Amino acid sequence: MPDATFSTPATRELVHNQLLSVKKEKAVALERLNKKLLLAIREQQATTLELSNAKLRTERILESITEAFYTVDREWRFTYVNREAENLLRRPRGDLLGKVLWKEFKEAIGTIFDREYHRALAENTTVKFETFYAPLEGWFEVHAYPSEEGLAVYFNDISERKQSEHARQEAGARIHQQASLLDKATDAIIVHGIDHRIQFWNEGAERLYGWTSEEVSGKSIEMLYEDILAFKEATSLLLNSGEWRGEIAQRRKDGGILFVEAHWTLVRNEEGQPQSVFAINTDITQRKSAENKIQYLAFYDSLTGLPNRQLLLDRLRQALAARARNHRTGALLFIDLDNFKLLNDTFGHDSGDLLLRQLAPRLISCVREGDTVARLGGDEFVIILVTDFSEDYDAAVAQVKVICERIHCTFNQPFSLGAHKHHTTASIGVAVFNDQSHTTDELLKQADLAMYQAKASGRNAMCFFDPDMQAAMNARAALESDLHKSWERNEFVLHYQPQVDDCGITGAEALIRWQHPRRGLLPPHEFIPQTEETRLILPLGAWVLETACTQLAIWSERPEAAGLNLAVNISPRQFCQPDFVEQVVSTLDRTGADPQRLKLELTESILVHNMDDTIEKMAALKAKGVGFALDDFGVGYSSLYYLKRLPMDWVKIDQSFVRDVLTDNNDATIVRAILLLAKSMGLAVIAEGVETVAQKDFLATHGCTAYQGYLFSPPLPLDQFEEFVVKEKNAQY
Ligand code: C2E
Ligand code: MG
Ligand code: MG
Repeated sequence: MPDATFSTPATRELVHNQLLSVKKEKAVALERLNKKLLLAIREQQATTLELSNAKLRTERILESITEAFYTVDREWRFTYVNREAENLLRRPRGDLLGKVLWKEFKEAIGTIFDREYHRALAENTTVKFETFYAPLEGWFEVHAYPSEEGLAVYFNDISERKQSEHARQEAGARIHQQASLLDKATDAIIVHGIDHRIQFWNEGAERLYGWTSEEVSGKSIEMLYEDILAFKEATSLLLNSGEWRGEIAQRRKDGGILFVEAHWTLVRNEEGQPQSVFAINTDITQRKSAENKIQYLAFYDSLTGLPNRQLLLDRLRQALAARARNHRTGALLFIDLDNFKLLNDTFGHDSGDLLLRQLAPRLISCVREGDTVARLGGDEFVIILVTDFSEDYDAAVAQVKVICERIHCTFNQPFSLGAHKHHTTASIGVAVFNDQSHTTDELLKQADLAMYQAKASGRNAMCFFDPDMQAAMNARAALESDLHKSWERNEFVLHYQPQVDDCGITGAEALIRWQHPRRGLLPPHEFIPQTEETRLILPLGAWVLETACTQLAIWSERPEAAGLNLAVNISPRQFCQPDFVEQVVSTLDRTGADPQRLKLELTESILVHNMDDTIEKMAALKAKGVGFALDDFGVGYSSLYYLKRLPMDWVKIDQSFVRDVLTDNNDATIVRAILLLAKSMGLAVIAEGVETVAQKDFLATHGCTAYQGYLFSPPLPLDQFEEFVVKEKNAQY
């Protein structure tokens, strides 16, 4: 500080006093001195004026600067305080001047002020520091300069700067915190530019995909996708709506595929232009694989891996909807293996499973990729053909036929079932569909029906559905429901057709009839096949046997009928039951019928299944006295072979030979051969369907002795048959 500031008032007083005393006491005498003094005074005055001008200038400057400024002497007394300092210290300068700093600002004792001010004076060095001063609730930047007189201090309020600095630091810390949060997140968080270049890749992404942030930075995000189309589709949706959520497959560094649930947000710049994509991808591979597993179990057949019924129905619905739009033709194939049950029964279910498993890929190889091969269950497979069919119906049908033939051909190769090779065939039913409205149910029924038709027309066949089949199917369904009711209502009756020899009536064949409430008396061919399919034949056959045996027991009490034999037709299903022998024996026991009078008529179809079992059963019953006739002889399989091995008593020449025996040389030859053969084997022969005397004579001439046919009598209800017997007996006497 300039000296003037400190010395001016004292100097002024001294000069003034000296002047007064000179005036009063030594005015005249000390003229010389006066002059000197005057000079001195002038000099002094000039100096004082100069000094005071400098001081004013300085103060003005100090007042006008925006920095706060104060000075203290070496005893820490305030010697100057500028206006800004008044403001910042919140004290008028009059209040401070002459006062001791540490008394006025006690809170500063022990603080950085204390330390640094003392250091400045002690070390005669400039100090500079920033600090928060609590009593004034602000941050200050302080510069202190030491001098002989004391300390000059400049200071500023830097609270605002400090705050924004602090805010910046906090924001920085927050960003840092957020970045580490992003890293801690288990999800992959990725930012890529609109040019697809990767800009940010958190640790979650490193963990999930295996690439480090450095490895991928600047690379294209497309590297994550195998299915680029799916990525492009998602991206275009994102660009449209600003956001995309969905599940998408991605690729790992090691080439593995993973599934993520993606949530992508489009980030725009200030002008609203798309700039980057902020993506959060959550790994759902495990969930997806669990879902897939559940889906697989729900929609695929575990044995063959083919779609199951559920998925088939779904695909069929889709196919029908597509057909309705594009007016093209498709086809539904119903495939059923021939004699599959026999394979299962003979070699066990494991063999059956093996065959089905081998069949699946063969069927797939017969069709195009867009077609569906499904397994309905058991040995039933269904194929939906939708690929590339001609618009022309007939041409499409021809194409379907080619595929069916291809399927039949795949069966030419044997299936290897463990040690042995197995050959099988399949029956195929086809329902063709185009844009006319069909339901999935209808189509499946139609194909199923056509398949049954194929089976009926001989196995290893194919058959296309036509509307007549539908009518037949409806009739069959009605019949089946009627049959069950009829059984409950006892609507079945037995008719008896006489069997005769040269001496007259020897007995009868019991033939079943159904007394239908609306349709009248129905012959067996109208319902026996259905009862066989529905297994109703088992209780029905048992009823026939029971009724026939009861009748035999009744007749045995009557002299005119006591000698009659009764033939009963046995269905293959009935005969194949394991307890068939026991059933017959217990029926005989229960009714008291004479086993010698009972003749069971079997057809050759019984015999193909298990020859040994058949022979065993027959032998057991023969031991009881029961007789056997081979019905419909001549129409079956390798007749002679069977005939030789079986313990038969009778052979019945089928009526088809008898009918044309006089007109067809072939038939005549067969009939003659049968009669010769039977004779040589010691078998009795009865001819059925004998309608004319000429037929009877021909048969008699060639050695036949027993007959059954309209020539003698049609099948008769019980009462009429009994009348017939009485009449015959009377005629004999
Ligand atoms: P089947 O055992 O060969 O019976 C002989 C069939 O020839 C009977 O037909 C009979 O009415 C018919 N018939 C007899 N004489 C003549 C004739 O001179 N000319 C012609 N055209 N036909 C004659 P039906 O009663 O219609 O029986 C048909 C078939 O139904 C039987 O053939 C038999 O296989 C089966 N069937 C009948 N009753 C039963 C039964 O109780 N159980 C089983 N499982 N099948 C039965
Ligand atoms: Mg018969
Ligand atoms: Mg017959």
